[in-house]
Amino acid sequence: MNARIPDDAAADHAPVTFATDIAIIGTGFAGLGMAIRLRQAGLTDFVVAEKAHSVGGTWRDNHYPGCACDVQSHVYSFSFAPNPRWTRMFARQPEIRAYLEDCARRFGVERHLRFGHELTSAVYDDTRRRWHLRFANGQQWSARVLISAMGGLSRAALPDIPGIDTFKGRAFHSQHWDHAYPLEGKRVAVIGTGASAIQFVPQIAPRVAHLDLFQRTPPWVMPKADRAVRPVEQWLFRHLPFTQKVMRSALYCMLESRAFGFAIHPSLMKTAQKVAQRHLRRQVRDPQLRAKLTPDYTMGCKRVLISNDYFPALSRANVSVTTSAIERIEEDAVITSDGVRHPADCLIFGTGFQVADPFARGVVRGRGGVDIVDTWRDGAHAYLGTTLPGYPNFFMIVGPNTGLGHNSMVFMIESQVEYILRALKTMQSERAEAIEVHPHVERAYNEQIQQKLARAIWSTGGCKSWYLDPRTGKNTTLWPGFAYRFRQATRTFSMDDYFAYSPAPQTVNGHAAAPSRVHAHANTASAEAEAR
Ligand code: NAP
Repeated sequence: MNARIPDDAAADHAPVTFATDIAIIGTGFAGLGMAIRLRQAGLTDFVVAEKAHSVGGTWRDNHYPGCACDVQSHVYSFSFAPNPRWTRMFARQPEIRAYLEDCARRFGVERHLRFGHELTSAVYDDTRRRWHLRFANGQQWSARVLISAMGGLSRAALPDIPGIDTFKGRAFHSQHWDHAYPLEGKRVAVIGTGASAIQFVPQIAPRVAHLDLFQRTPPWVMPKADRAVRPVEQWLFRHLPFTQKVMRSALYCMLESRAFGFAIHPSLMKTAQKVAQRHLRRQVRDPQLRAKLTPDYTMGCKRVLISNDYFPALSRANVSVTTSAIERIEEDAVITSDGVRHPADCLIFGTGFQVADPFARGVVRGRGGVDIVDTWRDGAHAYLGTTLPGYPNFFMIVGPNTGLGHNSMVFMIESQVEYILRALKTMQSERAEAIEVHPHVERAYNEQIQQKLARAIWSTGGCKSWYLDPRTGKNTTLWPGFAYRFRQATRTFSMDDYFAYSPAPQTVNGHAAAPSRVHAHANTASAEAEAR
């Protein structure tokens, strides 16, 4: 595998240092899952590029205090790699990271990993029908197939607050937590009250002198049914593996039932709201604080959070919740619109991720050099969240409209991995060198998705959230309904949905191309014509 190819073969892209059949970018659940399943399917000519020096994706990058999964670990794990050793129902970050490292070792994908490879650009070369990849370390690869497993929540978002650069104290985003900075005795300002902040605020509140929490929108918070996994359960999972399968299925069904409220009958969310209101009443005695923490939109419109220690942390004497808008930041304070100055030694941004533009400009360019940022100028879209017209042999995992608010993302990831595997096998059996989804297929699919989303809670619940594209208001992130429907939709791969290109007259390594048996013949011109 990975034949070294002569520099001159890459012509205008010299020097290419590596040629591979399949390049995967990223080693989180998506990249590792894809790599493992490729190996299991006997496809071994692939390489996985990873910008960091270890695997884990979001579970490597996010290590803030209290970082944990908010989906039960028996479901938030690969179906082919159950872990009987989970210590808690909702595993914490170090355990999830260790699980992914163990999977990479156990399933033999370590030899395919290339660390320190941060993708800076992937450009499709239509003549050679190959992707040309450049990395920040100067390496350049050529790959027939490109699989993006870069994740939708990997680029930290910092708020656009005047004066943010003038702050003289320590400032960091939750994803770039500075564990070396001693919070003890400091005045800390936390901006944001999303899934990350509600996990780290209870951890740091007892350590700091004072914590100012700046809340723009209160989240709906439900009790977290967390507990240690009992030794007897671990024994059962180890010795009678079907017991863990039963547990996984039960949890999956319980989570799946929540889609009724989110996507089918948003009015059902009112019942769930009562549980959250009771949780708030029980945990917060102060009516003024309770009023600040009570959302004014329907539950589910934003991600529903779960926590047992968030509200008690906000009730502490050394914690204040500020709901006035932040006007500016000065060198040692946050100034709010009511004119109050909140002195701070440290600023922590729990302000989420750049979701609307999953790829920075210049990183992915398809046929004719078209940047994916321009293709998506009205919001991201793809067929089954995976393939995109104009981007042959480009597959995305956790692409547009594959996110879930109610169930495990690993289920969606595995659905996409299997779909891509089927696509690759079909290409192999039909001797297609490249495929590209028909624009009309992709368009019809997305029209349907958007119709369903228009009725769902994320559009009707009366809130603004990162689920919606800020430019168009379109929901480009979530799958509209039951996760099993996505599994059904991705269960078969149909070549009828795609243009299939027979091998290019000359391949990148100079060998003569095998004769084509592709029946759904196409050429670039016909794909371009349909795209118009
Ligand atoms: P987030 O949910 O996007 O929350 C960002 C927070 O920052 C929100 O409260 C937002 O307020 C606030 N904010 C943003 N810009 C602001 C500004 N200019 N001024 C004031 N406040 C501002 O981000 P996150 O908490 O990092 O979570 C992101 C996603 O990561 C989650 O939804 C989830 O999918 C995932 N996640 C998962 C887990 C897990 O356990 N599995 C844990 C953490 C994160 P508004 O609400 O008003 O916009």
